[in-house]
Amino acid sequence: MTFQAHGKHLIAGDWVASATTFNSEPAHGPAQSFSLGTPGDVDRACNAAEEAFWSYGYSTRAERAALLNAIADEIEARGDAITEIGTQETGLPEARLQGERGRTTGQLRLFAAHILNGDYLDRRHDAAQPDRAPLPRPDLKLVQRPIGPVAVFGASNFPLAFSTAGGDTAAALAAGCPVVVKGHPAHPGTGEIIAEAIRAAIASCGVAPGVFSLIQSNTRDVGEALVQHPLINAVGFTGSLGGGRALFDLCAARPVPIPFFGELGSVNPMFLLPTALQARGGDIATGWAGSLTMGAGQFCTNPGIAIVIDGADADAFTRAAINALEPVGAQTMLTDGIASAYRAGRDRLAASAGVQELLTSSCDQRNATPYLFATTGAEWLANHALGEEVFGPLGLIVRVADEAEMLKVAQSLEGQLTCTLHMDSGDTSLGQKLMPVLERKAGRVMANGFPTGVEVCEAMVHGGPYPASTNFGATSVGTFAIRRFLRPVCYQNIPDSLLPGDLD
Ligand code: NAP
Repeated sequence: MTFQAHGKHLIAGDWVASATTFNSEPAHGPAQSFSLGTPGDVDRACNAAEEAFWSYGYSTRAERAALLNAIADEIEARGDAITEIGTQETGLPEARLQGERGRTTGQLRLFAAHILNGDYLDRRHDAAQPDRAPLPRPDLKLVQRPIGPVAVFGASNFPLAFSTAGGDTAAALAAGCPVVVKGHPAHPGTGEIIAEAIRAAIASCGVAPGVFSLIQSNTRDVGEALVQHPLINAVGFTGSLGGGRALFDLCAARPVPIPFFGELGSVNPMFLLPTALQARGGDIATGWAGSLTMGAGQFCTNPGIAIVIDGADADAFTRAAINALEPVGAQTMLTDGIASAYRAGRDRLAASAGVQELLTSSCDQRNATPYLFATTGAEWLANHALGEEVFGPLGLIVRVADEAEMLKVAQSLEGQLTCTLHMDSGDTSLGQKLMPVLERKAGRVMANGFPTGVEVCEAMVHGGPYPASTNFGATSVGTFAIRRFLRPVCYQNIPDSLLPGDLD
């Protein structure tokens, strides 16, 4: 089945065209024309979402689970067409799009099962104590309630799993919140076909159409209008630090500020402890090269930094990393802008004092080849910019003088999505010193593995202190993500006949 995008917005069940359009910039195939949204389109979608909340926000968990499962079914029914348009627009390989589709439908179904279980409601009850002295205690019940319409921004590097029907949309719909998505201009056709799958599921489940809207745009005014709209109660954002920070500031500056759950970039440092480095530095280097270059390095969990203690084992690790990275050929990046930002990041590092270029390769247009740099612990500690994300397959080896300097580097880190320890049993004592530092820095601390490939499950935390995310109490992957779109309400002495269904 070949999919031909019509280029319209989906607003509360209707496909709506704008007077102005923009062209997609696919990696392969012809560009297509898409409606350019306006603040007026945003207003219409937000009003429809608010109206829909009065039914959807009070629906049963079984009704919402049925919708989530129906969306997964409708996505699967369009599987081949989604892969076709997704690969054209992003340049990502077919197998990646197929895998990401499975992850996307899997997380929709996981949220369906999660809300049916009901644990997420965190129901609490302090029974009345009418005879308590000196004061009686009232009857108090707590339950989590949906917050109302939310805005969702997806990222270019996950056109399915972090986009139109991605984790944020799944979590919000599971919670009972209508969603208005700002479509990503790097994959507008993929966004359209997924929106059609959601529209079909909404229709078959008899849910209010305002529960979901998609506004296409490649200009900032749509996103800005969306996060500032008075009917929007929270924002789920995945993307760059610059974009996320700008929208976060707008949310904070609103007359009624709202939470902005931004999942931003990270350099995901790996600490190679001495015994492991000596015993299996070559294997770690090979594994690192694979993780670093997978998908042209366009993963938020890409492990960009390797910290090793200076010496012969560090030399061997460096040689093995060069050998593993050298044969990796050019890969297509998601957009021209990301490719040129990648080369600008390379140039910035190459021009930094005390940074040595270990692997010279050249790439142009929308391509990326791996780059590898090395610096010392002292240079790292003196130059904060060395810790900034370069989105793409670029690695930096930080050679520290000793264990004490390794700890200083750990302490210098900004917030991260992940930190990794490569360690053997002989490294336990150093690991014990690093662990209390790293758990203050990252949402996920891991041992002897690579952080790409984030499991979608109950225990996952995909977030972390700023700038990894703008809200360290949250995650954007895994079922705990639902908490972002819920608000605890306490019901004091409220008759059972007035309580929300989830409390009876
Ligand atoms: P992006 O350029 O920030 O774009 C994300 C979305 O935000 C787009 O819809 C974009 O729309 C909009 N946007 C950006 N700046 C804006 C502004 N100032 N005002 C209004 N809207 C704005 O990010 P990306 O290139 O798609 O994604 C790559 C980044 O995402 C990488 O840094 C990666 O590390 C990060 N990422 C993080 C995670 C995570 O979970 N932490 C997951 C995947 C990716 P317009 O282009 O139309 O402005």
